[in-house]
Amino acid sequence: MNLNFSEEEILFRNEVQTFLEKELTEDLVLAAKSTSAVFTEKDIAMKWQSKLAKKGWLVPSWPEEYGGTNWTHTQKYIFSSECAKAGAPNLIPMGLAMIGPLLLGKGTQEQKDYYIPRIISGEDYWCQGYSEPGAGSDLASLQCKAIREGDKYIINGTKIWTTHAHLANKIFCLVRTDNSGKKQEGITFLMLDMNQPGVKVEPILTMAEDHDFNQVVFTDAIAEVKDRIGKENEGWSVAKYLLEFERSGGVGGSKSLSDIQFIRKLMNKISTTHNDASFIDLYSTKVTELEIKAQSIQYTALRILSSLKGGDSPGPESSMMKTLVTDLEQEISEVTLEVIGYYGIPFQDTSLGSNEPAIGDESFRSIAGKYQNLRATTIYGGSNEIQRNIMAKAVLGL
Ligand SMILES: Cc1cc2nc3c(=O)[nH]c(=O)nc-3n(C[C@H](O)[C@H](O)[C@H](O)COP(=O)(O)OP(=O)(O)OC[C@H]3O[C@@H](n4cnc5c(N)ncnc54)[C@H](O)[C@@H]3O)c2cc1C
Repeated sequence: MNLNFSEEEILFRNEVQTFLEKELTEDLVLAAKSTSAVFTEKDIAMKWQSKLAKKGWLVPSWPEEYGGTNWTHTQKYIFSSECAKAGAPNLIPMGLAMIGPLLLGKGTQEQKDYYIPRIISGEDYWCQGYSEPGAGSDLASLQCKAIREGDKYIINGTKIWTTHAHLANKIFCLVRTDNSGKKQEGITFLMLDMNQPGVKVEPILTMAEDHDFNQVVFTDAIAEVKDRIGKENEGWSVAKYLLEFERSGGVGGSKSLSDIQFIRKLMNKISTTHNDASFIDLYSTKVTELEIKAQSIQYTALRILSSLKGGDSPGPESSMMKTLVTDLEQEISEVTLEVIGYYGIPFQDTSLGSNEPAIGDESFRSIAGKYQNLRATTIYGGSNEIQRNIMAKAVLGL
């Protein structure tokens, strides 16, 4: 097997690197690095999104008529790994990686024509209303109710853990439209405006005190029937289709490899500061093990990508990727925190307005907060225990 890039692929990599050198400015890299929140801050992510959109590189996997690049899987891999290596901010997934692909796969032509350009331009900023106080892993138990009145649905109920609901102007959500049959059968998928009197957003802070998610209360909120995806009461299959994109983890591993390089830099920094070379030996085996895992995840992701044809959703393999990538992210954050030792103890999150000088190196600042917030990755998008249940049933046939 020849794993070397071809001449054209090397030229493409050069083109990506040149673009990144020009457009990925220092302030974007610094902002992405210094946040401890799970999701990139909106203004940073949108700034990067608009640069990619201008270049035509925002949604490589989408059909060309909607902004896709028609790149080969290797090109997609080169692009995302170069972005990760250069420290580009993560894009916000709710529009680009969730409702966008769902609209392309299951939306009406009218919905695609209206919403897709607005997702790309950033005019619409989406949040996801799936979970409820009594419905997380057991999502089909959801109770948020919608009653149809003419060409509208009237919605009452509560959604929880809604990431960036305080920043979004649109929400896609699952609502109950029928209670008479099996619980999966009476669910409908709707899109609606956040900026209306019937929608109230209440903040929930993470344990690192970042404001990522919220509770959203609907009191006679309104959705248009034309903004329903799929048929009434058939939203469960629509919801599952979207979750496969949410869990697929992109070209997993690339970001982890860059985080591992960061650990190596920290190790060097600390060993120099303390004039203690043995510090490197102490962690090098652990870090190399992480690197091997990240590389094997990367190859697995590529194998999955290469098996997909245009418009396909990733299937139950997405559960495998979600579990592998998030478990590894947590392991990396643990080792990173271990490496900085007692420098991780003081609370020094600048995003909350702390203007105290950093204790230790500036790059230590967000590590403890990141470690805390990353506990969430094995919970959101369907917890990893649930992913293992899916793999047991759908992949292993148990
Ligand atoms: C950072 C973050 C962002 C989020 N963003 C969003 C968002 O934008 N929109 C949205 O709708 N939701 C969001 N969520 C919610 C997320 O999808 C739910 O938290 C998740 O589905 C788990 O549901 P739960 O919190 O109700 O936990 P529960 O379902 O109560 O689970 C509690 C524990 O029990 C385990 N468990 C439950 N059932 C089983 C089972 N059958 N077998 C084995 N173990 C089981 C779970 O793995 C977990 O460990 C977010 C969550 C987090 C942490």
